Amino acid sequence: MRNVIFSLLALLSLSACTTSPVTGQPIFTGLIDSSQENSMGAAEQQNILKQFNGPVDNAELTQFVQRVGAKLTPYAERKDVTWTFTVLNDDLVNAFAVPGGYIYITRGLLNLAQDESQVAAVLAHEMGHINARHSAQQQSQSMLANLGLSILGTATGSNAASQLGGVGADLFIKKYSRTHELESDALSVKYLAAAGYDPYANTKFLAMLERYTQLQEQIAGQGQSSVAASYFATHPPTPERVTRAREIADTMPKNANAIVNRSDYLRAIDGTVYGDSPEQGFVRGNEFIHPGLKIRFTAPQGFKIQNSAEQVAAQNSSGAAMIFASGRGPDEDPANYIISYLGANAQLTAQEKIIINGMPAATASTRLNTSQGAVDARIVAISAGGGNFYRLTFIAPVGQMENYATAFRTATYSFNKISDSEAKGYSPNRVRLIKVKSGDTVQSLAAQMPVKDYPAERFALLNGITPQTALEPGETVKTVAPF
Ligand SMILES: [Zn+2]
Repeated sequence: MRNVIFSLLALLSLSACTTSPVTGQPIFTGLIDSSQENSMGAAEQQNILKQFNGPVDNAELTQFVQRVGAKLTPYAERKDVTWTFTVLNDDLVNAFAVPGGYIYITRGLLNLAQDESQVAAVLAHEMGHINARHSAQQQSQSMLANLGLSILGTATGSNAASQLGGVGADLFIKKYSRTHELESDALSVKYLAAAGYDPYANTKFLAMLERYTQLQEQIAGQGQSSVAASYFATHPPTPERVTRAREIADTMPKNANAIVNRSDYLRAIDGTVYGDSPEQGFVRGNEFIHPGLKIRFTAPQGFKIQNSAEQVAAQNSSGAAMIFASGRGPDEDPANYIISYLGANAQLTAQEKIIINGMPAATASTRLNTSQGAVDARIVAISAGGGNFYRLTFIAPVGQMENYATAFRTATYSFNKISDSEAKGYSPNRVRLIKVKSGDTVQSLAAQMPVKDYPAERFALLNGITPQTALEPGETVKTVAPF
């Protein structure tokens, strides 16, 4: 959970006609020229770094990505772009391009890749969007929309509540059209081949993405979509994309020495944070701990916690949810914060001032409109001092709030501060390289990882193999260790 930053890039959805530097065809782009693109991209850089936990704390990985990028850029059609490659300290599998040549790739995506050629494929795809001047469309689906809980406003029509849980904000990661995705894939294969990389790397990474999404869905539970698959949402690896990328790779000149390079990739990825970082907060079973904010809370039994950029959302399979986020109020009064947050027209009931583990707080109930229809909601605002508030939003299907009263009350009063020393005790897990010894199996190595759910599946995905794959003694594999 990080504070939401509004993006200038919403402006980029303005359209005007120009000629594609790639195809020579007229295309719609922003009402801006390339120098304006550059300055907007530069202005946005700090916001993006803040939003995604800053740059990754692995200089070797950053240098590796920049080296790979530098091998590709000579083949870019646009020469008016200065390319900047940044590795973000974010566990979500994501990569995106910002006008001005700014390419961002997350550590989550790099952990999933298997070799240098797959990293090159992702960078080349993002470069394709810039080279072809694709303007992304505003992404209609937010993280909460994926959960089926996109909140459109209170029953009384307040706009303020449209930002409940961050909906409507921070949407600079936008969805590309199918045509643009296919065009970027084609460009990616072309750049890969030109730079001497395996032209099938794009197809191979799309397959990794598909496996990743399947595992995320398995982890999230049946019938629940994963909030983690954000790259999937913006660049869906449809069967059509996989087939087309393979067909284009088939037409490339054969290169017996095509670069795949697993060893340099493995050296660079060693020591990279795996999973949540202290800046994002940790999910430990039903508990959420944020060492930076020095807070913790426990979600009700049967609720699955998902930690995303905008908020921490926990939900059960019956349409009830608990959402944690933060915001600023007009003054120090948590009751006034709730009113300013929901809007003056919101119809509030059961308003109450309370104290939660020594912290001044307030609560109120209301009805909200969501993409799935109306829901009953109880908002709890907890003062964090200086006009800042933590916000817990409890949601139940209409008429069912009473069934969750005890569970939601227990969750509310589980919200507490943690001490400095307790906060320091939470350190992230990291990707580590190990050499396979005789007798090691996916299962035996996975059992040593500090990961409780689906360890064999996670280990297999990390290494691009299946849980049934036999390991070769002496081969180097990625594992996860708590140091
Ligand atoms: Zn794309």
